[in-house]
Amino acid sequence: MTLHDYRAPWERHAACAGTDPHLWYGRDDVYEPGWQAHQRRQSAKAVCRSCPVQTECLLDELTRPRSEQHGIRGATTAGERARLLAHWRAIGSIPQHTPPSDTDIMRNLLEGEAQERAAS
Ligand code: SF4
Repeated sequence: MTLHDYRAPWERHAACAGTDPHLWYGRDDVYEPGWQAHQRRQSAKAVCRSCPVQTECLLDELTRPRSEQHGIRGATTAGERARLLAHWRAIGSIPQHTPPSDTDIMRNLLEGEAQERAAS
């Protein structure tokens, strides 16, 4: 099994295409100590940060129901994505319902936050 089955055109450019999915999702059949899981997630995030479709990947994941949120996607963990959505809901930037569907709004929010980080 490899990561990505090319459901969307952008996935053809995914840096993780054809790689071992265990790096992004871990293994259900093998115990993984916390430190090892942390290292694995950091390695996956490093690949994501060099990925040309990182934003598209993250937006795609953010529109999925919480129950379908797993692994590292767009250089974030499921928990980080949940906190991001909760923050945007708290400041009224996205509707309260789950999951959000307007990727243009979320794209603008991500770009705005990136600009703020670059300016600080
Ligand atoms: S951002 Fe990460 S998980 Fe998403 S397509 Fe790129 S390498 Fe894969």
